[in-house]
Amino acid sequence: MAIQLKNPKIETPDVTHKIVPSVCGICPAGCGVNVHLVNGKIERLTPIKNHPHGIVCPRGMAAKEIVYSPDRILHPQRRVGARGEGKFERISWDDAYTIIVEQLHAISKKYGPEANCIYTGRGNFEFGLNEMFAPAGTVESSANAVLFPLGSPNTTGVGSLCYAAYGMIASRACFGDYIRNITEDLDNADLILIWGENPATDSSPINLRRIKKAQRRGAQVVVIDHRRSETARALRTEWLGIRPGTDGALALGMIHVLIQESLFDAQFVSEWTHGFEELRPYVADFTPARVESITGVPAERIRTLARQIAAAQGCSVLMYSGLEYSNSGVQAIRAVWILQALAGHLDVPGGKLFKMPNRLKLNRRLTDPPSAGPKPIGATEYPLYYETRKEAHAVMLPQAILHSNPYPVRSLIISGSSLLTAWPNPALWQRALAALDFLVVINRFPTADARFADLLLPATTGF
Ligand code: SF4
Repeated sequence: MAIQLKNPKIETPDVTHKIVPSVCGICPAGCGVNVHLVNGKIERLTPIKNHPHGIVCPRGMAAKEIVYSPDRILHPQRRVGARGEGKFERISWDDAYTIIVEQLHAISKKYGPEANCIYTGRGNFEFGLNEMFAPAGTVESSANAVLFPLGSPNTTGVGSLCYAAYGMIASRACFGDYIRNITEDLDNADLILIWGENPATDSSPINLRRIKKAQRRGAQVVVIDHRRSETARALRTEWLGIRPGTDGALALGMIHVLIQESLFDAQFVSEWTHGFEELRPYVADFTPARVESITGVPAERIRTLARQIAAAQGCSVLMYSGLEYSNSGVQAIRAVWILQALAGHLDVPGGKLFKMPNRLKLNRRLTDPPSAGPKPIGATEYPLYYETRKEAHAVMLPQAILHSNPYPVRSLIISGSSLLTAWPNPALWQRALAALDFLVVINRFPTADARFADLLLPATTGF
């Protein structure tokens, strides 16, 4: 027979329970959480009611597992085996700093300071600190300018793969502004497209709550994704499966329908756009039948969805990495935003809203890049990226490391990321990491890259 305790959290001399209101310390999103402690250790997190980010995502739910994992890197370690063998010995922090300083100076002397590079991702809580060491001259950056005073312009990171194309480059090309100054009015939309985005697993998943609320007041939600995502399942709504990498064609197909059926906002086009006369012939070939053969989305649904978008009072589009992580991401994103604009959903309730320009409110310490010496790698090949981010483009790292093109990069600090698991062509990246003179990996856990490190440094959580 099971005995039900009226209050299962009865204190005993051996077990203490405490709930501490706090901010989640797993990532820098800043969700307001109650931390449930048992004997002073995290047991679980629950959302703080009425906190603007009072929500706990799947990573936050795994806080206990992350904080107390036996796999955590807890001390500085130095490689003792062959590179790639994964053998390390514990050393002191003083020794670790001494090794880093000696190696960076030796490489600077031999190849020039630009041969040292740092790559930052979002996997460490220290990502938040990057805000305080950001390159000057950029609106927002996840890069770390710590090597600038040494004379190296080569800071780079996950922005080369993620966010910059969507939030900075495509948005500037379409609207002349950054996505941080633009938002979707989900709270008033009667049609919401979730396109290559997964709010159910977002960090933080705050939009999922807003979309559920919109559903309750009758808004229609369509998820466009190559898989039935967690969001599609959580919302129990229509899912349009699409062949990966063909989102731009789907948007152009719907623009085709808007133009063919005269469903676009002609006054908006004449007063606020450039290039409509070039767009019209460009989309002429993107008939629903042809777009079905490209995307796998039925032609009839392409037509009806275009009509729904045109008929909506306010259509919001949540979009992100599903479109960005492809070889024509910027153009696919632009096509979707052009569709939204032509259907009359810019600067209207329920559509895309433009905010007063702002920059991150954090008290940043912005660091100027070195005034002399070469530009960062990729500045010539990706001038818009360089102009926007003031950093190196990481896609150029393998050729700089392996072929000294445009010049040698011989040391790399990887913080909160894994190049081998984040970038396409891991065999190429593996050759590049193995060829470095000096590699430092800073992480909570031993990543795939850590096997090639000369030095492993532990990263903290915010708890
Ligand atoms: S998004 Fe998740 S991991 Fe990040 S702070 Fe919020 S709950 Fe924590």
